[in-house]
Amino acid sequence: MVQSDGWQERSISYTVVRSRRKTMALILRPDNQLEVRCGLTLPQVEIERFIGEKESWIRRKMLENSRLTPVQAPHEQNQLTALRQLTQQKALAVIEKYPHLVPSQLVIRRQRRRWGSCSKSGLISINLCAGLLPDELLEYIVVHELCHLVYFDHSARFHHLLEQLLPDAQVRKKDLQRYLIA
Ligand SMILES: [Zn+2]
Repeated sequence: MVQSDGWQERSISYTVVRSRRKTMALILRPDNQLEVRCGLTLPQVEIERFIGEKESWIRRKMLENSRLTPVQAPHEQNQLTALRQLTQQKALAVIEKYPHLVPSQLVIRRQRRRWGSCSKSGLISINLCAGLLPDELLEYIVVHELCHLVYFDHSARFHHLLEQLLPDAQVRKKDLQRYLIA
């Protein structure tokens, strides 16, 4: 850990989201935005105390996050179109490998926080930026969503199926966590 740049002295900034809840929760986004969720009337001093108690965890997670590789969609329209086509082609190539798992529809779209999703109707959405990832990680994302066509949860059965199709799914999942949708 680098301590000489004064990073340790900087205070932690955060946003507070109040609602009718009894407990406090901390949410640290991959882009290092920290959110505190708490009850409607909890005093600020309690929030500060809570942050203080969790400070070493927050610092450690923030440092891990800062080592992430950002994956960013291009700004130019024609580059965006090209990326959309590339991601679609790659996703379709993966889907074709599993003819017993057929989504009702495949949609490539920009999503800020997710690499992919699957709806109850079998519509699979893949993040536009997935086409920028190493192929084995795009494959992991697509196969993960294909498995949701069978199990609409993250149960043991789901993971069993996923690992049948991709024996190193856990390794790929870990690798994927090094990338940040920017
Ligand atoms: Zn899932």
